[in-house]
Amino acid sequence: MTGRRIAVTGTVQGVGFRPWVYRVARELGVAGRVRNDDAGVVIDAFAAEPVLEAFVARLGVDAPGRVRTVAWQPLGDAAPGQFSIDTTSAGGAVTLSIPPDLATCPTCLAEVADPTDRHFAYPFTSCTYCGPRFTIALALPYDRPATTMAGFPLCPACAREYDDPDDRRFHAQPIACPACGPRLALEPAGPGDPLADAAALLRGGHVVAVKGLGGYHLACDATDAAAVAALRLRKRRDAKPFAVMVADLAAAHRLAVLTPADVALLTSPERPITLAARRADAGLADGVAPDTPVVGLFLPYTPLHQLLLAAVGGPLVLTSGNVTDEPIAQHDDDARARLAPLADALLLHDRPIATRCDDSVARVVAGAPMILRRSRGYVPRPIALARPVPRPVLAVGAHLKNTFCLAHGDAAYFGPHIGDLDDALALEFFAEAIERMERLVRVRPEVIAHDLHPDYPSTRYALARGGVTHVGVQHHHAHVAAVVAELGLRGPVLGLAWDGTGLGTDGAAWGGELLEVDGADCARLATLRPIALPGGDAAIRQVWRIALALVDDAFAGAPPLAELPVFAAVAAGDLRVLRQMIAGGLNTPPAHGVGRLFDGVGALVLGRTRSAHEGQVAMALNHAAAGDHGAYPLPIERGAAPWQLDHRPMVRAIVADVLAGCAPAVIAARFHRTLVLGAATLVRAALVERGPRPIVLTGGCFQNPLLAEGLVHELADLAVYLPRAAPPGDGGLALGQALVATCLDERKLTSCV
Ligand code: ZN
Ligand code: ZN
Ligand code: FE
Repeated sequence: MTGRRIAVTGTVQGVGFRPWVYRVARELGVAGRVRNDDAGVVIDAFAAEPVLEAFVARLGVDAPGRVRTVAWQPLGDAAPGQFSIDTTSAGGAVTLSIPPDLATCPTCLAEVADPTDRHFAYPFTSCTYCGPRFTIALALPYDRPATTMAGFPLCPACAREYDDPDDRRFHAQPIACPACGPRLALEPAGPGDPLADAAALLRGGHVVAVKGLGGYHLACDATDAAAVAALRLRKRRDAKPFAVMVADLAAAHRLAVLTPADVALLTSPERPITLAARRADAGLADGVAPDTPVVGLFLPYTPLHQLLLAAVGGPLVLTSGNVTDEPIAQHDDDARARLAPLADALLLHDRPIATRCDDSVARVVAGAPMILRRSRGYVPRPIALARPVPRPVLAVGAHLKNTFCLAHGDAAYFGPHIGDLDDALALEFFAEAIERMERLVRVRPEVIAHDLHPDYPSTRYALARGGVTHVGVQHHHAHVAAVVAELGLRGPVLGLAWDGTGLGTDGAAWGGELLEVDGADCARLATLRPIALPGGDAAIRQVWRIALALVDDAFAGAPPLAELPVFAAVAAGDLRVLRQMIAGGLNTPPAHGVGRLFDGVGALVLGRTRSAHEGQVAMALNHAAAGDHGAYPLPIERGAAPWQLDHRPMVRAIVADVLAGCAPAVIAARFHRTLVLGAATLVRAALVERGPRPIVLTGGCFQNPLLAEGLVHELADLAVYLPRAAPPGDGGLALGQALVATCLDERKLTSCV
C-alpha cells in the first residue's frame, strides 16, 4: 500500500466535490481523507499503486466542478482504516475555488413543485449542485459561517442532510428549508402570502421590485403596454431594450425564433440573458424592446423566480433595480430608499447579498456563444492563462461597461459588471468589488494596469493606489490582447479592433485599428480615415454632426445638404456654425472609430439626428439591414503609415442612394457588406506584408453579428478568432490590459507609449 497527497485546483468547492471523492474512494477501496483548502481540495489517498492510478485518473475525467490541475506527491503517513471527509480547513494558498452562482438543478425544482416535500414552494431551496455561491460568500474557505447564510442555523432535518455524505445536500453551504431558512416579505404587506400577493400586483399592471441573487430587479408584466411604459418612465430609461424572463423553454419559443445553439445558451447553468430574434406575433408590449427585432430572454435561475413566473402566468420584464446609470442596490435599506419611488411594492427576503452581481448577457455569434456582459453565473470562474503572470496584476478596465480583472498565477478573475463609471455610487461599487476580489483571492496586486486615458475614473483610481507599479495600456492593444489571453494564442497576431473610441498613443481617438500585437509590442498597420467630430463628445449624442462631417469630407466641402433628409431637422444656424468649425478645424478632434462611422451613416440613412445612448443609432442601422445587395467601394489608402480605409467613395455612394430614394434596408445591407469586404481586403493585404498570423476580430463593433459573421465567412480559409468568454466590448478590456501590463512590466516599462 502506498500513499499520495493529491492537490486538486479549479472550481472544486461548493460543487459537491468532496462527497464525490468520498464515493469514488469507497468504490475503489481507497483509504484516506479529503478536505478543502484555500487552493482547492486536498486528498490523502492510500491504496495499492494501480488502484491509486485509477483513482487519480478518475479525478481528471468525471469529477464535478471544473478541475484545472491535479498534482500529487508521495505521502509517508500511516494509512487510516477507511476514507473520510475532513470538514475543517486551513488557510494559506490563493486560488479562488468558489464557483459562480448556479441555476436551480432539476432535482431541487422537482422538490419545490412536490406538495409532499418539505421544500415545497420554498423559494430558497438549493443543494450541492445548485444555488447561490459567489453572491453569498464573505470569505474563504467557502464554508457556511463565511457566507451570508451564517445567520440561519440549520434545523434538524437540514442538519441531517448537511452531515450525511450520501445525501445530495452534504456540506452544501446555502441549503435551507421553510423551518430554518430565509423568508420572503412584501412591502407594503398584502393580505396573504408575499409571493402570491406580488404576483397579483404584477398581473394587475404594477411594478414590483424583486430581491434576487446578486441584486434587485424591477419587474412588470411584459405584455402590458401601460405597465412597461410606466417602468420606462420611472427608471428614466430611454429606448434601451428590457430583458424578459419566461417561465420555461416553451414560453421562450413563443417569443423568439431560437436555434439549437440559442437554446443551449438559454438553458446553460449560467442562465445569461440571451439575445435572440423576436417573433413578430410574440405579444410583448412594444415598449419592451422598441425598434429592435432582437429580444433578450432568460429563464428562472432561482426557485423564487420559478415560483414567481408560475404564479404570474406570463413573461415578465425583469430589469436591474436602479435608476439608469446608477449601480444596482445591494442592501434592503438602500433598495427601499432607491426603489420605493420606482416600484409599487418590494418583494424582499432576509438573506443578505454579499456582493452585487448583475445578470449576464450573451448571444450566439458565428455559431458559438459570445458573452457580451460577463457577470452572474460566470463570475468568479477564472480564465486560464496560457502564460502565467509572474506578479499579481489588477487591470481596472475602461470607462463604460466597466469590469476589472485580477490576474494571479495562471488564473485571471473578472469582477462583476460594474457599468459606466459616471457617478460616485458606481465608483464606490467599483472600489468595493476590487477590494472584495483581492480579499477572496488573498492577493495584493503588485502591478496595476490602466487605460492611457487620464480622465477615466478607473485610471484615476489606479494612479491613486500606492506601493504598486502602474502600467498604462493602449485601449485597442488591450482589446486584441484580451482575445490572445482568453484563447491562449501564441506569437504575433493581427487584430482588427473596431469600436467607438479609445485613446491612441498619438493622443487621437482610435477605433478602426488593424494592429499587429505580440505581447508588449503593438504596431498600428492600418486605421480608418479620421472623421472630424465637431464639438467633440457632443457629436456622439448629436449624430447628425458626424453625418455632416462625413459628407463634408466626402464632397470636399461642398455636400448636397439641402437634399438630405437628416439635415432638414437641424436649424440652419447650427449647420452653418458646425460647417465653420469643421472648415476651421475648431474643436473638431479627429476620430478613427468605426462606431462613429456607424453613427454618421446611421444618421444619413435613417434620418436620425440623435443617439439616446452609445451605440443606439449604430444598432438601429444593424437592425435595418436586410438582404444581399452588393457593396460600396472602400479603398485602402496605402500612401501613408498607417494605411487608411478611405470612407469617402462609400459616403458619396450612400448619398447617391439616399437621394435616389433607395430603401434604408438596402443601403444598410450594402454598408455592412462594404465593411466586411473592406476589412477582409485589408487583412489579406496585411498578411502579405507581415506573413501568416492568426486573425483576431474584437472591439464593440463585433457584437454586431452581420459584421462578425460576414467577416468570419469571408476569411474562412484563415485562422480567425472572436472573443468568447471575455466580451468584445470594453467589458472585456481588463483581461487584455492585464496581459499587456505583465509583458511591459517584464521589460521594466510602465507604458505603451
Ligand atoms: Zn439543487
Ligand atoms: Zn431546515
Ligand atoms: Fe473599446
